[in-house]
Amino acid sequence: MNVLRTNGARAMSAGKMRNLVEPGRAAEIPSVDRLLNARAFEALLAQHGRTQVIAELRTHLDSLRHAALAGGLGRTSLVGDVIAAAVEAKLAQAARLTLRPVFNLTGTVLHTNLGRALLPEEAVRAVGQALTAPVNLEFDLQSGRRGERDLVIEKLLCELTGAEAAMVVNNNAAAVLLMLSVLANRREVIVSRGELIEIGGSFRLPDIMRRAGAKLVEVGTTNRTHLSDYAQALSARSALLMKVHTSNYAISGFTKSVTLAQLVELGRAHGVPVAVDLGSGSLVDLTRWQLPREPTVRETVAAGADLVSFSGDKLLGGPQAGLLVGRGDLIRKLRKDPLKRALRVSKLTLAALEAVLALYRAPEFLADRLTTLRLLVRSPAQMQAQAVRLRPRLQRSLGEAYQVANAPMFSQIGSGALPIDQLPSYGLAIRVVKGKRGSLERLDAALRALPRPVISRMAEKTLWLDLRCLEASDEAVFDTQLGALRP
Ligand SMILES: *Cc1c(COP(=O)(O)O)cnc(C)c1O
Repeated sequence: MNVLRTNGARAMSAGKMRNLVEPGRAAEIPSVDRLLNARAFEALLAQHGRTQVIAELRTHLDSLRHAALAGGLGRTSLVGDVIAAAVEAKLAQAARLTLRPVFNLTGTVLHTNLGRALLPEEAVRAVGQALTAPVNLEFDLQSGRRGERDLVIEKLLCELTGAEAAMVVNNNAAAVLLMLSVLANRREVIVSRGELIEIGGSFRLPDIMRRAGAKLVEVGTTNRTHLSDYAQALSARSALLMKVHTSNYAISGFTKSVTLAQLVELGRAHGVPVAVDLGSGSLVDLTRWQLPREPTVRETVAAGADLVSFSGDKLLGGPQAGLLVGRGDLIRKLRKDPLKRALRVSKLTLAALEAVLALYRAPEFLADRLTTLRLLVRSPAQMQAQAVRLRPRLQRSLGEAYQVANAPMFSQIGSGALPIDQLPSYGLAIRVVKGKRGSLERLDAALRALPRPVISRMAEKTLWLDLRCLEASDEAVFDTQLGALRP
């Protein structure tokens, strides 16, 4: 300790010494008890409770003690109010939830890493109710007997898709796993080589097949598969003919694939059901809003698919869920399986899903009420007006090392929906001014460090802030916190 003290003292100038606690005088540090009784701690104790405050305070006093012994402690650090402020900052940091709202300015509307679909107010209200009051989740109010949780959404889903029966599990990956495990265990599933997809986050069709105990029978080639390829693969071991929507890629050029209607005809002739993993799927025809075409669940059911699976939080705009619609006997079989119990959704999911599905009853209001669709149909002119409003503030915050420009750009729907189509959008493009000491990486990190982190996209030595997902109601918050940006 002696060595440390002398070294510490020698390192300091005489002027600096006057404001510092004399090295080694750790005894001057106030006691926990004295501080807790000081006024400055009253509010902290009321908000965070004794346990947390004392723990943080002890840690802080320890660090002060070390600094004092080392001779690097300023006198002001010992003032009660200053200690209280330091402890408060620590407590506030600890109290901050890990899962926080961010601004999604990536241009990808359904961003899996940022939680995919944003839910409408109607869903939030339904979830709030289901959270705070008992609900008839598995309870038939008419008979007073035990019910089935799928019934919360089955009628509505059948109405919206034309299917005979419907059910819901945790996500579409779970829906595919359940379908294959129950209907194709130890048997064969025939799939075109052009549809053996990998979706981000380790959903690979061949792997899911293996996990489900089903044997994958690949037919055709990557670019061309004929009906005869499927026909030749059929045997007594065939459990399913399967079509998978190539969500995140497109094969173009010299190609051939079999239509669902053709496959259904083949399946019917041989008594083999046809299952379709639609991926995103859509409950409505998106071309109504000049959006790219995506197969609808209704037309897939109408074409004769025996089972169709799709996600709840992609184009549908609801909570994370995997929806299965189709033949009554098959759905009942899936529902009875123990795996369904392991994959079942919570009342929160069901509450949100029902509220979102209910919006589809009035398609004329959908582009306004369904958040996902509202974001997708925003016009570039709207985003351009926002860019014009926001640019001067951002430029001022960033200073002369960066150049901020209003710029047209392209958004994506995301989550594998309509992979090759891009939506004209507008936003802010930030570049480093030549010869100045800006850094896009540093700026990107600073944007992520804001109270409500801003997630942007970096490409071509430019930071792109796509304003498609910044709705007018959030613009003020975004604008205000730009003042705190310090790249
Ligand atoms: C997205 C997708 C999945 C996985 O769906 P999750 O809801 O994310 O589990 C499966 N298949 C296809 C074709 C997809 O596009």
